[in-house]
Amino acid sequence: MTETSGPTSVLIPGRHPGLYIGGDWVTPKARRKDLDIVDPATGGVFTTVESAGEEDCAALVDAAESARRSWAEMPPRARGEILRTAWQLMIAESERFAELIVRENGKAWGEAVAEVAYAAEFFRWFAEEAVRCEGDMRRSPSGTNWIMVTREAIGVALLITPWNYPAAMATRKIAPALAAGCPVILKPAAETPLTAIALVELLARAGVPDGVVNLITTDRAGEVVRTLLSDPRVRALSFTGSTEVGRILLAEAARNIVKCSMELGGNAPFLVMADADLEDAVEGFMLAKLRNGGSACTAANRVFVHSSLAGDFTEMVVERMKGMRVGPGLDRANELGALVSEPEIDKIRGLVAGAERAGGQVATGGLSLGRPGYFFEPTLITNVPVDAEILDVEIFGPVAPVVTFDDVESAIRWANDSQSGLIAYAYTRDLSLGMELSRRLEAGMVALNRGVISDPAAPFGGIKHSGLGREGSGEGIHEFLETKYTAIPF
Ligand code: ADP
Repeated sequence: MTETSGPTSVLIPGRHPGLYIGGDWVTPKARRKDLDIVDPATGGVFTTVESAGEEDCAALVDAAESARRSWAEMPPRARGEILRTAWQLMIAESERFAELIVRENGKAWGEAVAEVAYAAEFFRWFAEEAVRCEGDMRRSPSGTNWIMVTREAIGVALLITPWNYPAAMATRKIAPALAAGCPVILKPAAETPLTAIALVELLARAGVPDGVVNLITTDRAGEVVRTLLSDPRVRALSFTGSTEVGRILLAEAARNIVKCSMELGGNAPFLVMADADLEDAVEGFMLAKLRNGGSACTAANRVFVHSSLAGDFTEMVVERMKGMRVGPGLDRANELGALVSEPEIDKIRGLVAGAERAGGQVATGGLSLGRPGYFFEPTLITNVPVDAEILDVEIFGPVAPVVTFDDVESAIRWANDSQSGLIAYAYTRDLSLGMELSRRLEAGMVALNRGVISDPAAPFGGIKHSGLGREGSGEGIHEFLETKYTAIPF
């Protein structure tokens, strides 16, 4: 293994190491083209990261496996204290992380600061959960023995994260894995490795022993992940990304019967019922649609508004959207940043055009901004027919199609008419209707009169094609634990 120097500042132009194995920054074995890291606010490359490959995978698993026993056997309190230190460091370095996120992801400054706080909170939350891995002991009904149930760390965990929340998607996986006693290999998205590099470096400073957290940055995700999953020592996979890639990974994980936690695509319906508090609903909608520029699996993707409110809803949202400041995240006054890449802009342009062809009317927005960088105007499309293509696609940008409905049954039927089932939003002042919607909407999460739902203390996850397992809350740690039953004579 050849060591390179560590990342003193990942924002300094030049090459940065992207492979961290057993506590060292390592040069990839094969000479490959570096990853160009693009600033979405300009479209220009501002730094590069070394790209590793399949030939580096065995060393990653070796390092994680050799740290496995001692990390699992470390007192839970000691593991918890390291996570708590990581939380403190991250909060203290909030500005540095926010700048990294803005530079490589393009989001608005306020969004990046909020992401850092949210991301750090997973360290604090799981510092507390590390000492609360419950088991239980009961006498068997026959009376002959004790049934002792304990939880054990599953082993080496592979964590794969997307570009939309470069910090939070990583900490949401790293923190529970470490709390459970598992060493990890993190593979961030090729667009946003800098935040991951900084996180790994922070965790080392927080006291994580060598080999417990390892990192591979690559533009050969398919080959690298397949190689890692073919190693029988990798026992858990936690993935956040598209349903399409999730399906491939589930098949690859099947070979070694790897435990999978999958946070996949969403297509969230946002329902405004006839009796909704309209101002509240508009406020919640702006958050649900435009938080993180719409690049969130939780983003409101299909808006169903009762026909009696549709005109006022449109008018109020158009006014709010027109008032938004769009521009580079480093200008802290901007409220909506850039999309991550050119293909994302092309995709969104195509979706808007398709919605117009289907009969929708652009009430505001509809264009990318005429300047460098990947900016798109906040966009509302009204009168969208319920069978339009845009309602089947995860938009992942600041565009909202609105469909009107006249009766509750149609709203619920249309909302459930999707293979996705991550989250559903609903606004109503009627408690019993709210409870009915909570019960009947097919989603892992329901936001009732709320525009934001993510919380490290709550179980995050979807049903149907939106995924398997839950992250955060007391449940998140179970993705990295096995249950063991020991029978003992009474
Ligand atoms: P998104 O649409 O958000 O980019 P992806 O599912 O394409 O979602 O990517 C999420 C993560 O999965 C990223 O880290 C990406 O590099 C990784 N990825 C993409 N394709 C594959 C693949 N075939 N095998 C393993 N990981 C992949």
